[in-house]
Amino acid sequence: MTPSKESAVRHFYHQNMYRFDTAAQTYWHHITPGPDLPSLVGEHAADVAIVGAGFTGLSAALHLARDHGIQACVVDAGDLAWGASGRNAGFNTLPATKLGLDQLFDRWGTQAASDFLAAQHEGQLLVDEFCDSEGLQIRHGRGSYMVAHAPSAWRDLQEEFAVWRRYSRLPCRLLTADAFADEGHGGSEQFGALHIESGGGINPLAFAYGLARAALRHGAEIYTHSAVTALHKERSGHVLQTAQGRLRARHVVFATNAYPAQAQPAALDRRLLPAISNILVTAPLSDECWASEAYQTLSPAFDTRHLLNYYRRLPDNRLLFGARGDLTGSEQDGERMRQALRRALARKFPAFSDAPVEHYWRGLVSVTRSMVPAMGETEQGSGLWYAFGCFGNGVNTMPWMGRTLARQIAGSLPTPTEACPVFQGLPPKLPSGNWLQKLGLRLAYSRYALLDQCAR
Ligand SMILES: Cc1cc2nc3c(=O)[nH]c(=O)nc-3n(C[C@H](O)[C@H](O)[C@H](O)COP(=O)(O)OP(=O)(O)OC[C@H]3O[C@@H](n4cnc5c(N)ncnc54)[C@H](O)[C@@H]3O)c2cc1C
Repeated sequence: MTPSKESAVRHFYHQNMYRFDTAAQTYWHHITPGPDLPSLVGEHAADVAIVGAGFTGLSAALHLARDHGIQACVVDAGDLAWGASGRNAGFNTLPATKLGLDQLFDRWGTQAASDFLAAQHEGQLLVDEFCDSEGLQIRHGRGSYMVAHAPSAWRDLQEEFAVWRRYSRLPCRLLTADAFADEGHGGSEQFGALHIESGGGINPLAFAYGLARAALRHGAEIYTHSAVTALHKERSGHVLQTAQGRLRARHVVFATNAYPAQAQPAALDRRLLPAISNILVTAPLSDECWASEAYQTLSPAFDTRHLLNYYRRLPDNRLLFGARGDLTGSEQDGERMRQALRRALARKFPAFSDAPVEHYWRGLVSVTRSMVPAMGETEQGSGLWYAFGCFGNGVNTMPWMGRTLARQIAGSLPTPTEACPVFQGLPPKLPSGNWLQKLGLRLAYSRYALLDQCAR
């Protein structure tokens, strides 16, 4: 038995953020019944072991089992979709990068950047097609709005529109403040909007449960409350250890994104930075309340801040409102972020300032030094696969990357979008030491906050 290079990943934030034994308390969990799944007990074997039952892992399992007849076994440390997949805002938007489109095209060239955008759109369609084929009634709104939060942001948005028109074939429209108030919303921070017409809003937990049910139906296995604590290599393949069981497989997919497994291969260490994103959901608001902000659309929206606010009207007349922030993950700082979200909500929509908040939760998104997502095999023939780094844009990206990994493992010929160099290879390592990485994040947040304050 040869031990593979293993690493013990130290948690980046307060332990609150990693309580795998505690069910996530989100609005989605409140409205979405989920399946009960067993833990991994005893000896198991599969062709492919998948660590993490979120969009990536579940999509990989579904496509392996359904499209390639390959036996897949998923294990998660918490409940099904315990991580970001069950906690996100459900925006099926694009693109998954912190680069502007012009930067993306400058850095990667026309072909690769166009393929990247095409892949992102394929991800959106994958979500739509899956919902259609499974009869999931979980989509709301058409496309998403990028809303200018200040007059200077409106000027920038007009340039952004020109860039979208130049580089992307996706349908998009620029709307003045009046035009957007007619179909979107009003409010004190509304100076016009850019409408990207693909995608929309989904219930992300219902989507994850749908992926899981389909994967199980096609013969995949899924085990919850089964944290992988060690990984080693034997002649026949990799062996994953959990508290009560062992799983042998020729291939292992690390689908843990911003919640890196304790026992991931050393090659994956320091490749991503987790950032905290926070969401509140109000009680249902009255028709008068919505009318006083001229708020009509169910399409997701986000503003033009660098530290953006994202929000959507939910079908049961609640408002979901979110933003990134906080460098600790502690309970006190969680409370501080909840208050900060309330203030931001009241600033944007004064009529909602007294709205009772019924749900508040947080989760981790992943960012990379390359500013784009990454997927592949740690080295050719290692049988150790990864996909991560979608910059809080995982609803379309991660199911697509899960499917792509499934196809790569099955030996399918890659399509041009799957072979797109933007995704290939591991991003450069981050500096060692969590404190240094946190310092980088702190500096980035401070810079963004300053830029946002300067926008007039
Ligand atoms: C608050 C918030 C809002 C967001 N909003 C949006 C949005 O509106 N639109 C959008 O596109 N994206 C959004 N995102 C990002 C999106 O949710 C993620 O990119 C996506 O869900 C990642 O999917 P995943 O399957 O790769 O990882 P995850 O869903 O995070 O799954 C990783 C899983 O790995 C498991 N795991 C970790 N360690 C182990 C171990 N040792 N053994 C076994 N299992 C382990 C975890 O329990 C977890 O379930 C948001 C994220 C957050 C946190």
